[in-house]
Amino acid sequence: MTSVIPDSPKHHKSKALKPSSRRPAKELCSECGLCDTYYIHYVKEACAFLTQHIAELETQIHDRSRNLENEDEWYFGVYQDMMAARKHDPIPGAQWTGIVSSIAIEMLNRGWVEGVVCVQNTESDRFQPQPVIATTPAEILAARVNKPTLSPNLSVLEQVAASGMKRLLVIGVGCQIQALRTVEKELGLEKLYVLGTPCVDNVTRAGLQKFLDTTSRSPSTVVYYEFMQDFRVHFKHEDGSTETVPFFGLKTNQLKDVFAPSCMTCFDYVNSLADLVVGYMGAPYGWQWIVVRNDRGQEMLDLVQDQIETQPVMSQGDRKNAVQQSIPAYDKGVTLPMWAAKLMGLAIERIGPKGLEYARFSIDSHFTRNYLYVKRHYPDKLEAHVPDYAKRIVSQYKLPDA
Ligand code: FAD
Ligand code: SF4
Ligand code: SF4
Repeated sequence: MTSVIPDSPKHHKSKALKPSSRRPAKELCSECGLCDTYYIHYVKEACAFLTQHIAELETQIHDRSRNLENEDEWYFGVYQDMMAARKHDPIPGAQWTGIVSSIAIEMLNRGWVEGVVCVQNTESDRFQPQPVIATTPAEILAARVNKPTLSPNLSVLEQVAASGMKRLLVIGVGCQIQALRTVEKELGLEKLYVLGTPCVDNVTRAGLQKFLDTTSRSPSTVVYYEFMQDFRVHFKHEDGSTETVPFFGLKTNQLKDVFAPSCMTCFDYVNSLADLVVGYMGAPYGWQWIVVRNDRGQEMLDLVQDQIETQPVMSQGDRKNAVQQSIPAYDKGVTLPMWAAKLMGLAIERIGPKGLEYARFSIDSHFTRNYLYVKRHYPDKLEAHVPDYAKRIVSQYKLPDA
């Protein structure tokens, strides 16, 4: 019989699920990794797909929930500063200029943290995620660049407890961070820092293959891709060449079911519960978009001030017509012929939304699509699952009947 230490936390008695077992969130599971650990004990409250409690967690983490009277806050979450930034010397092979990896390396080098939860790839597959607790700059660098697939980052949380680490940095996307924040007090840490990225339209490894096969001219040589502010998907290939495909030419009829159901019901695009968020969508092309949510986030950003140049965020154009017109296309899975897609892409790029207005365009397009998806597939969940800020965003548009 195994003995239980008298004052050991309740979760120590819980058992992680085997990889093949069905998760409590069923088909909505985003494979965040929590259920691969004994912290599954808290899954009912922690899982982003079982309990939506972003406003409550915002108050716990940032001392207040987002101010719904301030349009920038309903879109981008609680923040104290926002800017565009890029590294003077970009890290080769990073997703953008490598601000995320650089902050993590500084935090480790200066002894602020003992380990960094991040995600490398497996030896055999550059897109298959392999979460790790990095304890050297080389291990952090090995995790640079997006693994554009669902990744069980929290699966290493039991190893964190076993290692005795007390100061930790976690890098992750919204659904991972919501679960992490819910169990934060149970982790036995003295200090937790959270560096988030925005995230949308994620896929399983099989879904990624389908996306590459239907969209790229050479799926097997793609090393990186991003949905860019110029309304095109940019693929980078092994030989260094770049391929661009206009959003409006994507084979949406074939790609309709490619995104994971979790991501079709996700409303935390901007990673509301991280201390600091580093993305690209609110910044000019080539720059990264930084959202400082609280004092911890500011301290983290200060560590790399001498490595980056910054400029204020800007906003230009009006997204509303473009969003309204794209709703039926998203909904019905319409594909434009490539010549028309290129023409439309060019027109929108010239006169279309830029900077924060582009970020709002992307949020509006995804939230209206996801709202319709939840309404159709999970009508009983709609009221509790969709946060108030997302309802407000969606209410600006006329949606087709469910
Ligand atoms: P790097 O220095 O290259 O570091 C990347 C970090 O991301 C690494 O530390 C790694 O651990 C982590 N990471 C990689 N893959 C995953 C994963 N699957 N889950 C969790 N963590 C991961 N930004 C936007 O503005 N708009 C978007 O629509 C958007 N979509 C994204 C979708 C996904 C799936 C991901 C992972 C990120 C997305 N981002 C988006 C963020 C953006 O693409 C960059 O990751 C971010 O700007 C950081 O760039 P960097 O060069 O500083 O990162
Ligand atoms: Fe568990 Fe995470 Fe899946 Fe929810 S999303 S069921 S917490 S592994
Ligand atoms: Fe998680 Fe949302 Fe990203 Fe999907 S889109 S991986 S649910 S944060």
